Amino acid sequence: MDDKAIGFIFCVCTGKCPGFAELDIWDFINIIRAEYPVEYAFIHPMLCDEDGERFLDSFLKKETKYIVAGCAPVMQTKLFRDSFKKVGLDITKDLIPLDVRNMKLKDALTVVKNALKEAGKDV
Ligand code: SF4
Repeated sequence: MDDKAIGFIFCVCTGKCPGFAELDIWDFINIIRAEYPVEYAFIHPMLCDEDGERFLDSFLKKETKYIVAGCAPVMQTKLFRDSFKKVGLDITKDLIPLDVRNMKLKDALTVVKNALKEAGKDV
């Protein structure tokens, strides 16, 4: 556990992925943005495409830890490893990957809350 600020990114697989069909993505991101102890929260359409990689390269900061809600944690770790490494982030500590596919709003929020608690944030 450390006291790094947490940035929240929700990657939605273009927004058309059936995995997010049950989730109101705008309610989800707005509740997190406004009520949870994160520095900011936003939606990205496809972090694992080339432009997503360019985005991460220019956006990630060494002094921040990132929750990425999206696909399977093992996938995220593979997909974002190079971008985290380039900026000096330790992907095993500075990425908190959450799988929120096939969930309704309440369940997805619980997953995020639990992750924040585990990271030492009051929520
Ligand atoms: S990183 Fe995961 S959630 Fe995001 S677009 Fe790629 S496969 Fe989909």
